[in-house]
Amino acid sequence: MYEAYSSALKGQEEVRVEEVELTRPQRRILKVSVCPIFDDHGEFLGIINVFNDITAEREIDRLKTEFVSLVSHELRTPLSSIKAYAEILLKKPDREIDQRVEFLNIINEETDRLTRLINDILNITKIEERRIDLERMPVDICEVIEKSVSAHRSSAQRKDITLDVVIQKDIPQIWGDADTLTQVLGNLLNNAIKYTPEGGEIRVSAEYLHEDSRPSGEVEVRVADNGVGIPSEHLEKIFDRFYRIDRPFIGDQTGTGLGLYFCKYIVELHGGRIWAESQEGKGSTLVFTLPAKEKGEVRDAPLYGVQADDLLSYSKEMREKVSILVVDDDKRTRDFLRYHLQEEGFTVHEAEDGLKAVELARSIKPSVIVLDTVMPGMDGYEVLEALKEDQETKQIPVVILSGSEGSQVAVELGAAHHLVKPIARRTLIKAVDEILSKSVSY
Ligand code: ADP
Repeated sequence: MYEAYSSALKGQEEVRVEEVELTRPQRRILKVSVCPIFDDHGEFLGIINVFNDITAEREIDRLKTEFVSLVSHELRTPLSSIKAYAEILLKKPDREIDQRVEFLNIINEETDRLTRLINDILNITKIEERRIDLERMPVDICEVIEKSVSAHRSSAQRKDITLDVVIQKDIPQIWGDADTLTQVLGNLLNNAIKYTPEGGEIRVSAEYLHEDSRPSGEVEVRVADNGVGIPSEHLEKIFDRFYRIDRPFIGDQTGTGLGLYFCKYIVELHGGRIWAESQEGKGSTLVFTLPAKEKGEVRDAPLYGVQADDLLSYSKEMREKVSILVVDDDKRTRDFLRYHLQEEGFTVHEAEDGLKAVELARSIKPSVIVLDTVMPGMDGYEVLEALKEDQETKQIPVVILSGSEGSQVAVELGAAHHLVKPIARRTLIKAVDEILSKSVSY
């Protein structure tokens, strides 16, 4: 600052900008611009100082840098496990079946971890841009719990952690979005496993709350562990964006600090509440409530999405008659899509680019087209447009596969479904089944 003022006082005509950090009464970072002023005859009149408080910008810069280094760590750790176990398997593919299954399970879990990270980041972007669309459907929260728990069983087992589920009978349905609620439970379970030492216990419970023995209208879900616990001063802050408690003794267990922020956002969008209870060193319980659906209460149907009862079950013979055209420039993706679909009994055709896809769609008239968006030449959206403009192909339902969100574009162009990669087998088959159950031509 001294230099800025002395050059201004000497009448040097430039504007000097400096950053100054104040420590008292509170920490502030100021951008100070120092500018000498002169009258019409060039006589020095004095100095104008402009102070900009840039504390918030600097804090965001710091968080961004920290976030990038966290994310790269979070990417590297699962990637190195995947690579290591794939190499071990490749080196001696004929090892014991138990060992092969164990290594493949690790690879599978680490891929889930990568998917979670990408979901966290995408979710945060959606929250910031207020782009989260929730379906409002009657949801059986017990099914959501069962599904999330079974997805986490093997990672709990790996740490020898017991995972119990205690669900009260007759819990009413809630209005909500089963997929995002599954992500909420997934985040809570993932944390419980992460912050509980080997041999610990996790209990997921659900009950319909009562006040003075009358139903309160709220369903409560608790995820309790007997792990490291959360110090009381952090209990509320852990739901803030990027907030993490640094605990060096937990070793490799870092995270992005986005999981609970997402949980809070989603629970509150559902009209519920979320909080943490803990005794440090003894364990933590993450609790959330959701408003119960009243009997006979009906709300607007979602954009698309089929009630479970509407789904027909298809026999193998019926499925063989269904031909599915898979369009993706990546051979590996085509291979696994074909593999999953053929395993379910469907007849599969393939196209590796947009032009071939349009040509095949005209000639074989598949029952469903599964279409990647990013392809060289004609991309997926262009293919979709071309299909919808053509009388011969416009009726064919299309499932769009993409690496990011953008369901709105896909829906506007007439896609029947939009799936985000990586695609789990179950999600793919469910989407195809939903389409077929509605399709008249089938
Ligand atoms: P992270 O990706 O760091 O796990 P979260 O938003 O999911 O981010 O959690 C924020 C912080 O809350 C974590 O850094 C962790 O210290 C703490 N936390 C969350 N769940 C638990 C739990 N079950 N036991 C102990 N600490 C927890």
